[in-house]
Amino acid sequence: MTLSGTWIWTAQLPPPLAGQVCTSSGNWTSPKYLAISMQMSDGTDASNALADVQPGDLMRLEQQTNSANFAVFEITEEGSLDAGFTQYGVSPYDSGGSLPADASVVSVVCPYELPPPDINEVAWWIEPAREPNRYLIHCECPHGEVVEMVATAPFGVPDASAVIPSTASNLRRRWGCHCVLYSPALP
Ligand SMILES: [Zn+2]
Repeated sequence: MTLSGTWIWTAQLPPPLAGQVCTSSGNWTSPKYLAISMQMSDGTDASNALADVQPGDLMRLEQQTNSANFAVFEITEEGSLDAGFTQYGVSPYDSGGSLPADASVVSVVCPYELPPPDINEVAWWIEPAREPNRYLIHCECPHGEVVEMVATAPFGVPDASAVIPSTASNLRRRWGCHCVLYSPALP
């Protein structure tokens, strides 16, 4: 059974109150656990769908009034039942926008299906800039493009596996991009 409904986000640490969802870090970027009430924000019981959430599933949270603010987590540990809520081990998979304010309504979907791969890739390349020891980092996808300059000291091309993900995260921030694959794959 797919989990799909709305909960109230709170930056307070677990346990969540009825209707709430929260994380062990109080944010969407670095939690180890996510705790979610058995009740949706409208009081609907979600215990059956919560019990079907499996390790390996992706769970997406998205602010109901601003879809640019979202996070996708991979479930890493089976849910443990507690009084009125379930807690899962999670690993951040993707996010965009900013953390919604406390008490914002968020839609929660699990398992979340990633968009098809053909609209899902960030093309990247690195080229020398005019200035010595500086390089241009390009990331481009169907949502938009960002170009950032980095300096290296004193020689050598920047490490793609370090600079491309940070540039791509700005692509997400600026354009609401949801792309998670790199083309070519990172070294
Ligand atoms: Zn994109």
